[in-house]
Amino acid sequence: MLVHVAVPVPTLDLLTYEVPASMPVPPVGGRVVVPIGSRSVTGIVISKDVSASELNGRAAKPIKSVLDTAPFIPADVVELARWTAEYYGAGLGETITAVLPPKTRDERVDAHKTRRMAAITAAGMDAAHPVDSPSALTPKQREALEILSGVADGLATAALAARGISSDTLTRLSRVGLVTFRQERVERDPFESSILADVAALDHPLTLEQRAALERLTRLAATGEFKTALLHGVTGSGKTEVYLRIAAAVRAQGRRVLALVPEIALTPAVAAAFRGAFGDRVAIQHSAMSDGERHDQWQRIRRGDVDVVVGTRSAIFVPLPDIGLIIVDEEHDASYKQDESPRYNGRDVAIVRAQRARALIVLGSATPSMETYSNAVNGRFERIVLEQRVMNRPLASVQVVDMREEYAAEGPDVILSRALRAGIEARLARGEQSLILLNRRGFATAVFCRQCAGTIDCQNCSVSLVVHGEGAARRARCHYCNYSARVPQTCPHCKAPYMEQSGFGTERVEAEVLTANPTARVARLDRDSVRRKGAMAELLSKFRRGEIDVMVGTQMIAKGHDFPKVTLVGVVSADVGLGMADFRASERTFQILTQVVGRAGRGELRGEAIVQTIYPDHYAIQLSRQQDYPAFYEREMLFRSAMRYPPHVSLVNTVIRGRTYVQAMDDAVAVVDALRHATAKTPDVRILGPAPAPLGKLRGEYRVQFLMKSTNRKRMREVLQAVLATRPELLRRTTVDIDPLSVL
Ligand code: ADP
Ligand code: ZN
Repeated sequence: MLVHVAVPVPTLDLLTYEVPASMPVPPVGGRVVVPIGSRSVTGIVISKDVSASELNGRAAKPIKSVLDTAPFIPADVVELARWTAEYYGAGLGETITAVLPPKTRDERVDAHKTRRMAAITAAGMDAAHPVDSPSALTPKQREALEILSGVADGLATAALAARGISSDTLTRLSRVGLVTFRQERVERDPFESSILADVAALDHPLTLEQRAALERLTRLAATGEFKTALLHGVTGSGKTEVYLRIAAAVRAQGRRVLALVPEIALTPAVAAAFRGAFGDRVAIQHSAMSDGERHDQWQRIRRGDVDVVVGTRSAIFVPLPDIGLIIVDEEHDASYKQDESPRYNGRDVAIVRAQRARALIVLGSATPSMETYSNAVNGRFERIVLEQRVMNRPLASVQVVDMREEYAAEGPDVILSRALRAGIEARLARGEQSLILLNRRGFATAVFCRQCAGTIDCQNCSVSLVVHGEGAARRARCHYCNYSARVPQTCPHCKAPYMEQSGFGTERVEAEVLTANPTARVARLDRDSVRRKGAMAELLSKFRRGEIDVMVGTQMIAKGHDFPKVTLVGVVSADVGLGMADFRASERTFQILTQVVGRAGRGELRGEAIVQTIYPDHYAIQLSRQQDYPAFYEREMLFRSAMRYPPHVSLVNTVIRGRTYVQAMDDAVAVVDALRHATAKTPDVRILGPAPAPLGKLRGEYRVQFLMKSTNRKRMREVLQAVLATRPELLRRTTVDIDPLSVL
């Protein structure tokens, strides 16, 4: 018999093998060992009884062995993987990788309780990026420093070995003082111990609105049919409590529950609430777990020992049998979209899984995505609204500060407006907490020469380097490829000694808050400050315990945290996203402002928000101030329809990369010409471009993109795949993104 097998090898699609008569026929979802070239690889059987005509006369290789007589991956998950691969135009090889359990053995499984870490020293930093004299390092040594220069706390030597850096190389570097070693304890589960302990168990009588929402959801669940509900609840309206009760109701019917959350470490409250309510019958999958623990849990779930799974995006593929309810919390969140192939959106795959399982799916958000809300408006989804905050807590009052007036009054370098400075001072005096948002990392966003206006740019990417740190610790770094360099004293273009910094990021805001309030306890939460595992949980815990007065951060602080003592939220520049040429710029801005303003006043105390902007009249800013989602939706839809953007049409974004700009552009022109020809009779499919991508060069490669728009997504995908199939040499240089969240 011939079978189709998917192997976890990125560029491979379905492969056809022969099952020798001497072996048992493996089930769909069972593991088999197959030859690939000279290697043996374990794959998953995707379908049986494949017709011999598919081979076009070639002979199929025999499989080497059959590992399972019962499915290892349940049949419904195999089907879901097939759907995902097809819809997103990805190979089954890379898709099945997302579905398989994490490997049981790797460097993070802690046989011993400590591991050896290697970190770069300051001297190592300079040696990695010599400004003038070439260094005497071997290529391997340079590579090691290159890798380590991107990770402040260093990497486990085992992880470095996996990237081809031997302990010999590291030892030599340490002898000359460029690298240091230390032993680090491997935490069993830092997340569980620190965060879960902070969150008290919930047990409230429901508000009237919560009860009404729960009743409607219970009725939907009782139908035993596929239903989709949008739970549209303002920030602080108590959505979690509704999730828990509907989960308990479905569990009481004997069916299982899957809850997706954007990022568990950032929004631990939901996971903690489920743990509190369901104890040992819940499995929580989070990134702080070792692969070994994840694997054990995967097996428990598969055996049916678990009733409720809480996890991030990839948990949509867990082998949980008989699902009756799927919850997608913060359904609008961009982290549901995977930014490498398969570029799936976990929320959308969740809807498909619910449909096939005849389950109820609840999409929860205070700021639903335009796609979801339009489905609710059109009646495809049930819309359930929570308009009030619990305990009748008022929404924070929002003051919009026009920074143009501030610059006129205080000079062009002001970062914190008078109102925001006064607001922070008042909180400090009263012992209350403040959250300050700026969605941009670093100290300064660019370095430029006052004489020739030249900037310090990344060698590999078409962006300017961002300055991190001050004084001796100051370095310029690329936020895309991690290239870093010393900030030069003189201009590399014209040699003039007038280098200046411009723009500012979270590090600068943190410094400004400290300068204005030297005794305040100020901390920063962004990707730079939480590189070390467990650092994020620690910072959030400290803030919750009141050991930090002012927390400055990127959108990480805007998520679903519940900090009762925060009474002030400041937004330093609400405009960070608005200037971008992306069709979701306004939606993102509205979401982040609404979410962050929603962090204020969640306890007994009334909250206030101060939003600084140079576009005080922009609708995203005005309407988030009033927390008026429906008005925002109406206004934004005008733009989306006029410009033909989702949810009005579907998009496919294709990027073709090349070693030179000309190569990338020539290939893109040829592909687009073929597409135009193929769609000449389909006026509904429109093609824009090719044009240089907004990020025209990335990691040394040039990028050209084109955008397809149509109401018929399937047609776009098919035409594009047909054209690309005639150019197999482009496969490795082409990225196709179906339903992209952003076209930047
Ligand atoms: P949302 O996710 O909608 O922003 P949460 O679920 O985080 O809101 O709830 C906000 C706060 O209100 C939490 O501290 C929660 O414990 C509390 N809460 C929820 N429901 C009730 C209720 N019925 N009575 C009192 N407090 C509640
Ligand atoms: Zn770069």
